[in-house]
Amino acid sequence: MTKHGVSVTVVAGTIAERRMSEQQCASRVSPWSAALPARGEHPRFDRLALPFCLGVSGSMPKTTRRATALSGGVLMYAHKSIEYAEAKRLAEVADGIVVLGSTGAGLARRLRTGGYSGTVLHDPVEYENDPNRPRAASLFGLEDDTVNLQADLRVTAYLSPSAYVAGGDTRQLDQVLADGVTFCQLAGKRQHRAPAYMVLPLATAWLSKRLYPTLRASLSGVTERIALMVADPGDPLGSAAAVGNLVDLLRARPTTSMLRTDASGLGALAWGSGFVAVGTTPTVRHFAGWGKKGFAKVADPSPRVLCRTVLYYVRGSRLAAADGDQRLLDCRCGVCNGLSLRRLSEPIDDPTGREHSAAVLAEIAAWLRSLPPRDRPAAWRDECARALSDAATLEGLTGAIFDPPAALKAWSRLP
Ligand SMILES: [Zn+2]
Repeated sequence: MTKHGVSVTVVAGTIAERRMSEQQCASRVSPWSAALPARGEHPRFDRLALPFCLGVSGSMPKTTRRATALSGGVLMYAHKSIEYAEAKRLAEVADGIVVLGSTGAGLARRLRTGGYSGTVLHDPVEYENDPNRPRAASLFGLEDDTVNLQADLRVTAYLSPSAYVAGGDTRQLDQVLADGVTFCQLAGKRQHRAPAYMVLPLATAWLSKRLYPTLRASLSGVTERIALMVADPGDPLGSAAAVGNLVDLLRARPTTSMLRTDASGLGALAWGSGFVAVGTTPTVRHFAGWGKKGFAKVADPSPRVLCRTVLYYVRGSRLAAADGDQRLLDCRCGVCNGLSLRRLSEPIDDPTGREHSAAVLAEIAAWLRSLPPRDRPAAWRDECARALSDAATLEGLTGAIFDPPAALKAWSRLP
């Protein structure tokens, strides 16, 4: 498949299975054999290679072409200091872009005036402010001001200016839901027609066994679309309970989408999420929660890039140290075209790693959309299990530590 000039492909199956496939599936197209070009070759891949032996065809199913960015798409959630050229490039490589705050508004305006007609959303990031501060920004209120701005930006979907909801703060949760309904109603009356989402910025405690029943009950009377953002200083979906309850929420409310997430967003897509916005940098992949700081290792300037083989973001310095990977870190995405991820250990201001990650996310989302909806959860679960197996293989080959995140293990263990 070629998307905006970038050829994409998706490869799955454990390393051992894929090597076996070259003999067993000799009569069919073998995506893994194509994934291992001879040294020195960097071929372009012009078709979607579906996971090994799942029924490979040479063309993209029509359902994939018809999918819109807000229905099964993966958007890039841009970091605050992103340059215009990178924002446009990432928007084109993925299914669109989400920009934030006042600088993001200027960026969205420039994208539109520059001729970009794809998906652009603007997050007001009200949840980054003190949840107890006065909310009336003008005579007409914050919601009205936000709708006006986003209509002027010609956003693809409206996003509400929601305050942060700490774990267990039911009064704040009810207020945010009420403000979100007001926002969606205001957006529905604007001449600029676009679906409206109430942003729901929740502490990850709301997905715990103790608090999730309260959250689910509070949402039972809400019919508006929700853009969920789960916050935590570490990985907000780094527990089996958080992943399991997210899946329950997605099954109950299939239009629910996600903001500021990581590779777990692909799991959300598999389980029916409307769209997911994956952060371009760690800060915008995980919001720590109002007044909290995320865990960061500042001594290492190398970027984290999404590694297709292990399905999580890995620091470039760790990839560079994985000597002897037997080309398992070669990447067939449209940005890398067969080059090794081990080259992406340059300082964080190099956009190549972010473009690579966007391409990989878009490819996996396209693969998921190519499957019947009922098959996607199991396909994602099996793909996560494959990634865990391949991470162990890589550790054995290289001696480098590939320690998969708890979220990946949780996705692999879902029924
Ligand atoms: Zn790549």
